[in-house]
Amino acid sequence: MTPLTLTYHSCQALNENTVHICFSVESEVPFEAQAGQFVRLHFTQADGKETFRSYSIADVFENEKMVKKEISMAVSWVEGGLATGVLSGMKSGDTLAASGPFGRFCLLPERHERYFLIATGTGVTPYRAMINVLKERLAQGSEVYVVMGAQNETGLLYADDFEALEDAYDNFHYVPCLSRQQRSTPKNNDQKGYVQNYLSSHEFNPETDIAYLCGNPEMVDEAFALLKEKGLPVQQIKREKYISPKPRG
Ligand SMILES: Cc1cc2nc3c(=O)[nH]c(=O)nc-3n(C[C@H](O)[C@H](O)[C@H](O)COP(=O)(O)OP(=O)(O)OC[C@H]3O[C@@H](n4cnc5c(N)ncnc54)[C@H](O)[C@@H]3O)c2cc1C
Repeated sequence: MTPLTLTYHSCQALNENTVHICFSVESEVPFEAQAGQFVRLHFTQADGKETFRSYSIADVFENEKMVKKEISMAVSWVEGGLATGVLSGMKSGDTLAASGPFGRFCLLPERHERYFLIATGTGVTPYRAMINVLKERLAQGSEVYVVMGAQNETGLLYADDFEALEDAYDNFHYVPCLSRQQRSTPKNNDQKGYVQNYLSSHEFNPETDIAYLCGNPEMVDEAFALLKEKGLPVQQIKREKYISPKPRG
C-alpha cells in the first residue's frame, strides 16, 4: 500500500447521478495496481476524525498489472454523503490524500471456462478495468458474461465498452438486467428484472465456472446465496460490497 496524492483533473457525467472523475497520481514509489483493485480516498469527519472511502479504479488497464500515473473512478453521488460533498466540490488542480492499491477482486491466474462478472451501478468498473485481460481469456476460448443490473438504460455505465467487446467476440456476452424500464431499443440479451432473476434461470458448472459479484450489498448477498445454492463452490464466488466504513467514534 502506497500513500498517494491525487490531483483532480476532470469530471464527466455518466448519468444524472454518476460521474467519471480523473486524477493524476503522485507517490514516492511508483503506484502499481492490478485491474480490479481500488483506492481509498482520505477525508476528515465533521468531528475532526480521519476516515476514508473506497473507489474502484475505472480505467481500462493496458496490462493486468501496471504503474499508474493517472486514475479514474466512477462515483455515484449519495445525498448528504461525506465523500460526495468533497468530490462534487472539487476543481481542477485540487488535491486529495489517498492510499492504495487495495483488494483482491482480480482475475485469478488460472483460466476458467466461464466467467460470470455480475454488477450493479458503479460495481461494473472493476470489469471495465479488466477488459484487456478478458480479451486474453476470450482468445483462449473462455466464455465471459458481464451481467449488469440497473433500473433503466442510463444506469448501464460504460455500456459502449462492453458492447464493443460483444461485437468483437462471439464468446463475450453483455447482459443488461433492467428492473424498472427497458431500453428504448432493446438488444437481444436484455433481461427484465434483477440480476438475481437472470442468475436463477442459469445452471452453473462447479468444475469450470467462476463468478464475481460487485456493487450493492443486497444484490451481492442475494446473488451469493443463489450461486451457492446452485452448486458453485464458495471459493469460486468472489465478492466486493460497496459500503462505507462505520463512522469512527
Ligand atoms: C471496496 C469498495 C469499492 C467501492 N467502489 C466504489 C466506486 O467505484 N464507486 C462508488 O460510487 N462507490 C464505491 N464504493 C462506495 C464508496 O466507498 C462510498 O461508500 C460511497 O461513495 C458513499 O460515500 P459518501 O461518503 O458520499 O456517503 P456516506 O457519508 O458514506 O453516506 C451518507 C449516508 O448515505 C448512506 N449511503 C451510503 N452509500 C449509499 C448508497 N450507495 N446508496 C444509498 N445510501 C447510501 C449511508 O448509510 C449514510 O447514511 C466502494 C466501496 C467499497 C467498500
